[in-house]
Amino acid sequence: MKLTGKHWTADTPGYDEERLGFQRRTPHQPAHIVGATTSEDVQRAVRYAAEHGLEIAVKASGHGHGAPLDGGGLLITTTRLNHVTVDPPTRTAWIQAGATWQQVIDATAPHGLAPLSGSFPGVTAVPYTLGGGLGLMARRYGFAADNVRRIEVITADGELHKAEEDPDLFWALRGGGGNFGVVTAMEIDLFPVPTLHGGSLYYDLATTPIVLKAWREWTQTVPDSVTSAVAVLPFPNLQQIPANLRGKYIAQIQLSIIPDGLDAPAVVSNLRDALGEPLVDTVGELPFAESGKIFDEPGRPDAFSSRNALLSDLDPEALATIPELAGPSAPVMCVVGIRHLGGALSHKPAVENAVGHRDAQYSLTVLSPGEDDLRALHDSILAPWAKDVVGRSLNFSMGPLTTGETQAAFEPADYERLKWLRGVYDPSGILRANHPIT
Ligand SMILES: Cc1cc2nc3c(=O)[nH]c(=O)nc-3n(C[C@H](O)[C@H](O)[C@H](O)COP(=O)(O)OP(=O)(O)OC[C@H]3O[C@@H](n4cnc5c(N)ncnc54)[C@H](O)[C@@H]3O)c2cc1C
Repeated sequence: MKLTGKHWTADTPGYDEERLGFQRRTPHQPAHIVGATTSEDVQRAVRYAAEHGLEIAVKASGHGHGAPLDGGGLLITTTRLNHVTVDPPTRTAWIQAGATWQQVIDATAPHGLAPLSGSFPGVTAVPYTLGGGLGLMARRYGFAADNVRRIEVITADGELHKAEEDPDLFWALRGGGGNFGVVTAMEIDLFPVPTLHGGSLYYDLATTPIVLKAWREWTQTVPDSVTSAVAVLPFPNLQQIPANLRGKYIAQIQLSIIPDGLDAPAVVSNLRDALGEPLVDTVGELPFAESGKIFDEPGRPDAFSSRNALLSDLDPEALATIPELAGPSAPVMCVVGIRHLGGALSHKPAVENAVGHRDAQYSLTVLSPGEDDLRALHDSILAPWAKDVVGRSLNFSMGPLTTGETQAAFEPADYERLKWLRGVYDPSGILRANHPIT
């Protein structure tokens, strides 16, 4: 079997640019890289790897790789496989494996349609969806994985499958991550949401305990059209940062409201009234195409790691520990992000999938930059929440997890089914997924 597409080995110019992604921690060190431009390139690469006994990893924009190839194996990069075809009458889009959410949104927005994209439009739509996919309209429409109609995937034996014709494979791929094959494209649902009412309210660290408590209480009053989050994080002391955020620890409330049939400004006013004047307020109506401005996350590649806990509630006493444990006195810079779940996320989709812990009400992630193993620090920040932990999200776990930790992302019986299906579709274990199911 000959490789097609672009091909690099460690001594070929361009190898480094091709293997590196957004996440710079422990990058892949493959023996071969195939830059796929067609699904045939992917199929040939998988067959070549199977014939030569090579492990296979896949990299799109590289925001989430956890288990890198370390000196051997074959890396398939999908960034050139990024075509998006919109079908307005059925409100669907056929998206190739390497399309970022921004590329998907750019194709859907002219039709007044929006996908279930997340906080950062530079993330790739397919891997995000394979990991569940918690987006800006999550409480209204559920996980991205709940809104997938078709998936084209090459399994480890090099065979191309229409996964929707195989109930087990279709179930596993939607939530089970990159453990079952290399997806070349999928068809996703779109929603008639041309604009959002959204943005961020920024408060000083000194008011963080009040902000977190008021946000928690407010989340318990809002309808499913309101998806929100809060982050506690330091802003760099840089010219391009607004003067009253520069160099400060900030609590940033991130709001994404589907305005349809709802007095969105009034919903936000209820929160503002409870919190007082913010340092900066960017909330207003914005075209969906600019929805990346809501979280306004930095787009610079970096090394980082994170740990996540899915929670049944936000214990006020645990909330009060965040500024002390993760604020300026933490030994390493920490960003704590809490997302409000519930709503449609709690409902089983029409065609069931592997996404776990639909009963969780909040997701808590602690993230830090750097190459160090910060597991102990992050665990200490998550410790006050122990009594309310129901599981973990794999999409928000950056860096390697133990088998038990990966298992905690799923219902116990679902994990057993995923393990069994991994044995069916990848019996030799050649796929190196970001969070391997073993
Ligand atoms: C700044 C930032 C914001 C984020 N926001 C959100 C958010 O709002 N909601 C959310 O749910 N997640 C979010 N995430 C997490 C993100 O969805 C996951 O990390 C996702 O896996 C990243 O995909 P990627 O292509 O960028 O990463 P990659 O590292 O390229 O891919 C991640 C893994 O996906 C698998 N994979 C990739 N392509 C394929 C394929 N074609 N077939 C099979 N497996 C494949 C591989 O196992 C790979 O290791 C965010 C991450 C970051 C860094």
